[in-house]
Amino acid sequence: MACQRTKNLHSLVFAFFLAVSPLSVADLKSDQARLEAIQLLSEKDNQAALKQLKEFYSELPPNSEYQLRLDVLRELSAAYFDAGDIAESDKINLEILNLARARQDKETVAVMQIDDAFKLRDAGKYEPAIAKLNEVAASLKGSTRADNLLRLESAYAMIYRAFSKFEQALSHQLEALRLTDQLTQRKTLAKIRRLDALASLYLLMQNPEQTLLVANEALVLASQVDSPKIIAGLRMNQAMALCDLKRYPECLVAYERSLNAAQEANLPKLEALILSNIADLHLRTLSFTRAEMVARQALKKAELIQDLPSIYNAKANVGFALGGQGKIAQAMEFLNPVLDRARDLGDKADLEAVVGEIGRMYEHAKMYKEALQYTREQQKIANELFRADRSKTVAALQEQFDADQRKKQIELLARENQIKDADIKNSRLQQIITLLGAVLTIMGGIFIYMLYRKVKQTNERLEEVNQQLEYHSVRDPLTGLHNRRSFLDLMKVRSENVEHDRREDDGESPDCLMIMDIDHFKHINDSWGHSAGDAVLVEVAKRLRSAVRDSDMTLRWGGEEFLIYAPKTKPEMLMPLVDRVMKSIGSTPVIVGNNAIPVTISAGYISLPFSGVPEEACNWEKAMQLADMALYMGKVNGRNRAYGLLRLLAPYEQALPELERDFSDAIRQGLVEVAIIQGPATSQ
Ligand code: GH3
Ligand code: MG
Ligand code: MG
Repeated sequence: MACQRTKNLHSLVFAFFLAVSPLSVADLKSDQARLEAIQLLSEKDNQAALKQLKEFYSELPPNSEYQLRLDVLRELSAAYFDAGDIAESDKINLEILNLARARQDKETVAVMQIDDAFKLRDAGKYEPAIAKLNEVAASLKGSTRADNLLRLESAYAMIYRAFSKFEQALSHQLEALRLTDQLTQRKTLAKIRRLDALASLYLLMQNPEQTLLVANEALVLASQVDSPKIIAGLRMNQAMALCDLKRYPECLVAYERSLNAAQEANLPKLEALILSNIADLHLRTLSFTRAEMVARQALKKAELIQDLPSIYNAKANVGFALGGQGKIAQAMEFLNPVLDRARDLGDKADLEAVVGEIGRMYEHAKMYKEALQYTREQQKIANELFRADRSKTVAALQEQFDADQRKKQIELLARENQIKDADIKNSRLQQIITLLGAVLTIMGGIFIYMLYRKVKQTNERLEEVNQQLEYHSVRDPLTGLHNRRSFLDLMKVRSENVEHDRREDDGESPDCLMIMDIDHFKHINDSWGHSAGDAVLVEVAKRLRSAVRDSDMTLRWGGEEFLIYAPKTKPEMLMPLVDRVMKSIGSTPVIVGNNAIPVTISAGYISLPFSGVPEEACNWEKAMQLADMALYMGKVNGRNRAYGLLRLLAPYEQALPELERDFSDAIRQGLVEVAIIQGPATSQ
């Protein structure tokens, strides 16, 4: 985080450098040469260059050539800017503007407005800043002056970059670099500056490999110009890229070279910055004593030039270096002023970074309560920051921010857990807790296992009950035969398939319905008791079941009434089936305890479809009704016999009303062919 802060400062410094712009063509060779010499000097010694420029300007005769005057003024403005004297720089700019207006030099007037765009940028006004540049671009349309176009492209790149529109920044930066080839003056210097800007942009875009490539290219060119200032900047970019790539030893070498160049160029502010970055590097590699040493050097240097941002940056690093050594109280002596300043300035981004870093310092020192306090504060600031920045933060960054926030939440939770641990100060207690934890875990495991077993048992039981329920819903509980409900279900399915079955079937094998009722069952109950009656029912069921095919359905229709549904029973098989059933019941008495109970049944049977009548006319219910009438015939005609309705001898429409009115009379009338199967002779 600290490295990020210095990176920001770094880019700020280089924004200053970029504001230095190449001069345009001058007519007078000697003046031009003098100016170039001063420019080169400014690369090495800003103060000396500033002095010479002031002299140069004061020596210019009132009737001096416009372009030369313009170039000198521009250089002077840039030199003031570099020296940190913004007010003076602005004053010179105004002079340039007035001069250009007087000469009706529209291009220069337009280019001077680029400064307004930078002011809007500094005020955080992204869209107006870009709009301002667009105005300048409109004025420069069709311009052939590469230096002006280059200023514009560079300005676009810097403003887009300031608002994290890196892709746009990159395309403009590349365009600016391309334009350097069209310059007539100081091409190399301009190209180096563009490459430097490009390198630092790649760094921001988290592309350190590309940064290294571009910085190396610039360093090769830089050997042609004697500019330690440029070399210091390039080496610094190089170092930061190496740091990002975790190539720490190489990074340190690059920083040291950068530092040497900065010293040579007499740039104490840059020196302080590089020293801070070196301190960061040591912090990163956890070399806290070295970090402390270098950070203190940076602090000394910064205090010497009274550069407040550098002072506080260095203080922060000294603080973190001390914190890393476990000297927390001492660390906070350095860090509290840093926090206060950030709070005073309302620089939330800086505050967030420092607070976060302090949180991590406490965490490292295993002081988790404090760590949490700072981490919470950091999160709060981050939220505020997000809200405040929302309007100016580009949408692309929002996603990244959300991801960071989520990460922080997770970290915070982890830390909260750590704090709970930290509260348990006594290590023995910790051990006991751990042991208890283990026991609890095991017990928990056992409990869960038991719970699982119980659930499993319950499930098994439930399954069993369900199966029983299902069984009972289709089975008669006493006899185990199908019950009336299951038959109704079957008939429902059958009705649905009637159409299909008719096509399949040749009509030669209709289904058989046989309904039976035990004779004088009341008497059985009365004579042998109700439970004996039950036993008889069970035995009858068993006998019926064994008398029919497995594919036939035997069911208890109710009370002591039974039904056999025998699908696809050929007519010739019908009577043998009924005969078999009658015999199975009546041939041998039912043994209940010591008693042999003679049992007979009466039955009525019918085929379905009946006598070729379509089931739409004579459905299973109607057929059952007819069979029931036949059964009744069996009862009234002496019992122990089965009456079968074999076929109609009259049209159904004619026969049915008669059968329904008086069954035996209809038989007598010969409307229907009936078969009587006598049951076996019994011993009773
Ligand atoms: P019929 O020959 O005319 O059929 O004479 P029945 O005595 O069998 O007369 P009915 O069919 O009217 O009587 C049926 C009796 O069966 C009435 C009832 O008490 C008895 N019953 C019905 N269900 C059960 C049962 O589950 N167990 C026992 N033990 N008796 C039952
Ligand atoms: Mg009955
Ligand atoms: Mg009966």
